[in-house]
Amino acid sequence: MKTATNKVIKTACSLCIGGCGIDVFLNEKKVVKVEGMREHPVNRGKLCPKGAAILDYVYSPDRLQHPMKRKNGEFTRITWDEALDTIASKLEETKERYGAKGLATCLGMSLLGQGAASYSFIRRFTDVYGTPNFFSVESMCYRTRLMGYILTTGSRAVADTENSRCILLWGHNPNASTPPDAWNIIEAKRKGARLIVIDPRRTPLAKKADIHLQPRPGSDCALALGILNVIITEKLYDEEFVATWTTGFNRLAEHVKQYPPEEMEKLTWIPAAEIKRVAQLYATTKPACILQGINALDQTATGVQNARAIAILQSITGNLDVPGGFIIPPRARLHNIRLLEMIEGKPLGINQYPLFYEVYGTLFGEGQAMTLPETLLTDKPYPIKTMIVSGSNPLRSWPNSKKVKEAFGKLDFLVVMDLFMTETTQLAHIVLPAASFLERNDICSDFYNGFGLPYLMLRQKIIDVGECWSDMTFWLELAQRMGYKEYFPWNNEEEILDYLLEPSGLTLQRLHDDEPGGVFYRSVKYRQYEHRDFRTPSRKVELYSKTLEELGQDPLPTHRESQESPVSAPALAREYPLILTTGARIDRYLHSQLHNIPRLQKGAPKPTAEIHPSTAAEYCIEDKETINVETKRGSIEIEARLSNDILRGVVSIPHGWEKANVNLLTDMGFDDPLTGVPAFKSMLCKINKTAS
Ligand code: SF4
Repeated sequence: MKTATNKVIKTACSLCIGGCGIDVFLNEKKVVKVEGMREHPVNRGKLCPKGAAILDYVYSPDRLQHPMKRKNGEFTRITWDEALDTIASKLEETKERYGAKGLATCLGMSLLGQGAASYSFIRRFTDVYGTPNFFSVESMCYRTRLMGYILTTGSRAVADTENSRCILLWGHNPNASTPPDAWNIIEAKRKGARLIVIDPRRTPLAKKADIHLQPRPGSDCALALGILNVIITEKLYDEEFVATWTTGFNRLAEHVKQYPPEEMEKLTWIPAAEIKRVAQLYATTKPACILQGINALDQTATGVQNARAIAILQSITGNLDVPGGFIIPPRARLHNIRLLEMIEGKPLGINQYPLFYEVYGTLFGEGQAMTLPETLLTDKPYPIKTMIVSGSNPLRSWPNSKKVKEAFGKLDFLVVMDLFMTETTQLAHIVLPAASFLERNDICSDFYNGFGLPYLMLRQKIIDVGECWSDMTFWLELAQRMGYKEYFPWNNEEEILDYLLEPSGLTLQRLHDDEPGGVFYRSVKYRQYEHRDFRTPSRKVELYSKTLEELGQDPLPTHRESQESPVSAPALAREYPLILTTGARIDRYLHSQLHNIPRLQKGAPKPTAEIHPSTAAEYCIEDKETINVETKRGSIEIEARLSNDILRGVVSIPHGWEKANVNLLTDMGFDDPLTGVPAFKSMLCKINKTAS
């Protein structure tokens, strides 16, 4: 039966960082159908399972539809006016008693994925208020990779899979995390590209790969060093590029002699011959690119060093900034609306992780959120008493959920803005109903850059749901209440977007009327370093990093074991003999989001612990049996799923579930030493049958 529609509006999906173009079919004021936009360069008409469930998500009966306050453990409905007045007065009180830094804000994935405007706008508010304590999901995510690439090449670089002849997919299952990457790789493979997959799990793309290596979780840096050893020993590198554009090659060559494939076989559990085969195929097929996983290499004890090793591999093989290699796409020029001069000091965590704040002129300007629970519990180095959280559920997604709950419970005042009730909203004093991506305006550009596309698209507000507000509207209204009009001269979202767009030469009207499906704002240029060098202190690719040396860190990628591994803690490994790796993605969920959507639940109704049948047999565990998984931090009950696709000796548990929350098994303190990003990917655990 044909669906009655009277309007089709173009916008972008934000249920993951893909930013796929969608055609939204409207009948009167209700969305009746969503289709992938055929002309969009990311998805070319396709939608993944999450995208196919957009209507179930937007019109879910679980949506929060009006502001609420908690009193005596009960939530009651209030007006936006009451919510804003209460928040404004609590913010004033906090500043008076503890200074501006007594307020912390925390943004999650579902907000960061909305686009450039929401993020910049919130930052402007926190700047004017004066607090440096701004945190985001990047405390556990992408920042590690970015830092490793910038320290090495001076820029954020991305793998150009579409034009590559050899794709090395490292710790990445894009079918589940970023489907557009999977679509590009399948197309590149169809055109003849070779595919190498490095992953402890046999993912869908690993099953199609020319070579699949299954390393021990946490040993990726050792594997990268083994590959570098082969490439340098066999002189498979690009001698001219290395001589002209890199510094520290001789030191690197000397350094990697410590990592011959035969020795790395012991650390990685990969046969030396396979390490050599991958090194030779990758280095001799041009152009080649390495696509690093969404978090698999970041959330380890060598997160930044893993990214450095990958950037070095791309560079010395002559694949840097060439089509099909590791390219540096131009970012969209938007107004910077930060007011840094109004901030009081630096955020929490920056003393321990100084590069987390800024590297070579790239200002991240955030604190490391993993230091926050300890501060909330101890008031050290100073008290933080008020928090505003948006689109984030730290009580489920941060390590050591028990400690995070206790810490957030100590706040004097907690505001949470979200689409649904979560463990974190349950603790809030005020809960605000957030707009979904069909109910807000924004500028989508950065995720396209992640695919190497200098593309920009308007996210359009199409519908209203209940009394839900976009974050920009909330912060704009709060700014007015707090007397910040002078710094917030805009009257609505449209005016803000128009202002932000000015330097790009684009206007809101043009995007809305003429280019609703998006626009390429520039062409990608290659070998840009020939005109402007690299943006590192030496103006070259820094194989050896003096910056890291001065910080007392490893100047060359160096393998370090995680605190809990069979190599670093053999005594502990006798009690906890298996390796726990957490956070494998499921194509129908995004971290802790979407688990409440019945249509999506059908494909993955419950969390499971993936275990190889031979490992399970040692414990007499059968498929679908409920088991205990235990670490030094605690234990959870979960269903065992026996699979030949997982490496022997490893237990893989997805994150983001309320039931069997794997973050009861994880902790802060196991982290990458340069970023403080938790090492979720490699811990020690034991399993046993539950008492029946
Ligand atoms: Fe939406 Fe991501 Fe799926 Fe694209 S891949 S449809 S952006 S969830």
